[in-house]
Amino acid sequence: MEIIRTLHELSNWRRAQAEAGRRVAFVPTMGNLHNGHLNLVRAAQKQEGQPAVVVSIFVNPMQFNDVNDLARYPRTEAEDIAQLTRHQVDAVFLPSEADLTPATDSFTIRVDPGELAAHWEGATRPGHFIGMATIVTKLFHLVQPNVAVFGEKDFQQLQIVRRMVRDLNMPIEIIGVPTARADDGLALSSRNRFLNEEERLVAPLLHATLTDTAQQLQQGALLNDTLETARTRLVDAGFVVDYFALCRTDTLDPLYRTERGILLAAARLGAIRLLDNQHVVID
Ligand code: AMP
Repeated sequence: MEIIRTLHELSNWRRAQAEAGRRVAFVPTMGNLHNGHLNLVRAAQKQEGQPAVVVSIFVNPMQFNDVNDLARYPRTEAEDIAQLTRHQVDAVFLPSEADLTPATDSFTIRVDPGELAAHWEGATRPGHFIGMATIVTKLFHLVQPNVAVFGEKDFQQLQIVRRMVRDLNMPIEIIGVPTARADDGLALSSRNRFLNEEERLVAPLLHATLTDTAQQLQQGALLNDTLETARTRLVDAGFVVDYFALCRTDTLDPLYRTERGILLAAARLGAIRLLDNQHVVID
């Protein structure tokens, strides 16, 4: 596996793939890799034409709106590189902050996802999706992938990236990969390691509540009552619920009656914020 740290090395690697006639599949991450990330890698490797797979690891300061969250975000570069090597990834790109997020006086342009960032994570974390979309755009320009792979765990992020490549005519196919979970249903996340023993036992209730709620809605339950019951169940178990809502899958606008869509949820246990979602399929 090639370990690429500079923009010059990346550009040489990218040119070599083009000269070899290889497509490139790209998996952007913030590192501290777990099986969810590795599922994205496996999906990338399965894309048409056996593409060269490049994974980036960059803890993007622009998408953090809490300095403490940024400071304590787990950084495990050596382990990440070992895992990617084991999974036969072709290259890992480890850009520096100086290359991607230079001081603001020399960097003024931002990519604004507009309405798609109005609700949910966008409302709870102001500026988060502008930071994400700006850095993903820069990574796309540098890596020039044919295909890029993202997790459904961060559903709003996935939909923003899909719209971004469409609205800005970026010639990149976006692939979404289902959420990888622990045996008890908790969605894998780099932040799970900060849950204490007690919180870790309670945490799977978020997924359980989402699946139960989806099932009730699919059986025709009234939306508002069902959502309120779900929020109460979480609050009673010790969660602080940021949002638990049914929304349209494409625009992410909230829905006001039971219909096909996606349940999006974010809830805090102590200092840790958990994010999850569940499709509601009504024929
Ligand atoms: P992160 O490193 O948390 O920024 O995530 C990098 C990519 O991995 C994003 O596309 C995430 O949606 C995806 N991802 C994170 N956790 C999971 C998971 N449990 N299952 C599937 N994809 C995930």
